[in-house]
Amino acid sequence: MSVTERSFIAIKPDGVARNLVGEIIARFERKGFVLVGLKQIVPTADLAKSHYAEHAERPFFGGLVSFITSGPVVAMVWEGKGVIAAARALIGATNPLASAPGTIRGDLAIDVGRNIIHGSDSVDSAKREIALWFAETELLATATPNPHIYE
Ligand code: ADP
Ligand code: MG
Repeated sequence: MSVTERSFIAIKPDGVARNLVGEIIARFERKGFVLVGLKQIVPTADLAKSHYAEHAERPFFGGLVSFITSGPVVAMVWEGKGVIAAARALIGATNPLASAPGTIRGDLAIDVGRNIIHGSDSVDSAKREIALWFAETELLATATPNPHIYE
């Protein structure tokens, strides 16, 4: 498992509106992951539709796109060993009521349509989503592994 692995993580408009940006970033920082890209934007409908293309045929797609474009999103790229799977574990299940306490959604959300955060679900998704949301010039070079975190 490579320390250069990267995941796309986004705090959705509900998370931003609820002032949970610091709380969420703190959880990734405390775990030991490194923030290599960060910006706050209101996504266009085109960006939202591309991001959620796999769900285009689902009944909730329209509502999902209108919600994700309804306000600022904090888009991030986090780096570290196993970050894609670890971020999904930190985030919790899609339905916050089914997410374990201790996870971001389990601790901080209730409805599936207001689950405050997105995280890439695979290496391929992460690559696709990072390229969709960020230009290469907006991302830092790979961090030197911190010897207090990695043996
Ligand atoms: P995850 O965000 O956990 O990867 P999915 O990829 O299955 O979940 O769905 C993407 C997003 O679509 C979810 O985070 C949630 O905001 C929304 N969503 C998923 N299922 C539903 C649903 N049944 N009703 C409303 N919104 C949903
Ligand atoms: Mg998903």
